[in-house]
Amino acid sequence: RVTPAVGSLFDAENQISAVIVLTNVTQSRQMEAQRREFIANISHELKTPITSILGFTELMTSGVVTDPIQKAQYLERIGEEGRRMSNLIDDILRLSSLESKQAEEVWERVDLRGLCEDIFRSLEPIMKKRGITGEIFGAAHYYAYPDDMRQLLKNLMENAVKYNRENGRVTVRISPDAYQCVISVVDTGIGIPLEHQSRVFERFYRVDKGRSKREGGTGLGLSIVKHITAKYAGQITLVSRPDEGTSIRVTLPVTEEGRR
Ligand code: ADP
Repeated sequence: RVTPAVGSLFDAENQISAVIVLTNVTQSRQMEAQRREFIANISHELKTPITSILGFTELMTSGVVTDPIQKAQYLERIGEEGRRMSNLIDDILRLSSLESKQAEEVWERVDLRGLCEDIFRSLEPIMKKRGITGEIFGAAHYYAYPDDMRQLLKNLMENAVKYNRENGRVTVRISPDAYQCVISVVDTGIGIPLEHQSRVFERFYRVDKGRSKREGGTGLGLSIVKHITAKYAGQITLVSRPDEGTSIRVTLPVTEEGRR
């Protein structure tokens, strides 16, 4: 029984109120700690590319490097690190705007299959290079903010390519019914060891930091997927086996408006 928090906190009647107050304090402390950790992580993640950019710039301007081929390589690295920073900032902004529905969002019936085809087209150069094939089964229109659906599918499909093996396969399945829309992205890649599976949706958590960075990852992709899924009251299931592949399934409930 919850009694109003009047009188002394030591009053037997008020014990439950006291517990609730303490829980709220604990929760807000945890949130504050998480926020601080997030900011520390962002600073660290930005610091690394900035240090590289400054280092290469200094080498170029000091006159030590004269070989034009080497200079071109340094410029290439500066560009790469700049792109990494830009991707990171885009992802951070995306995460912060996902915390609440934005006033300017226009929701519509989004063609999920069309989006997947677009994303495969944009991944074509890297898929071709590695001999990876992609296929899509099923189709659906889902009522949502189009950018959310694009981002969700892009992050899952990009990972399925990035963490795949040479000549691997990426399979996207879209299975709608009257109540929900199930999207699954399955790859034949390196997989995620069991002990990491519950953590890959955390911000900046990576199984293999080197590989993620080489692939241009920000460590925020799956965290964005988790936030988008939560925004639509959906669920995520991950099944993965090292050296066999990963399957991520997102189940999105169909809303009243979506049914109309
Ligand atoms: P990143 O930008 O590093 O790809 P994500 O948040 O998208 O960040 O993913 C977090 C980590 O989970 C990745 O660094 C990678 O180690 C692992 N991961 C994600 N998707 C897959 C996948 N399909 N196969 C294997 N590992 C994956």
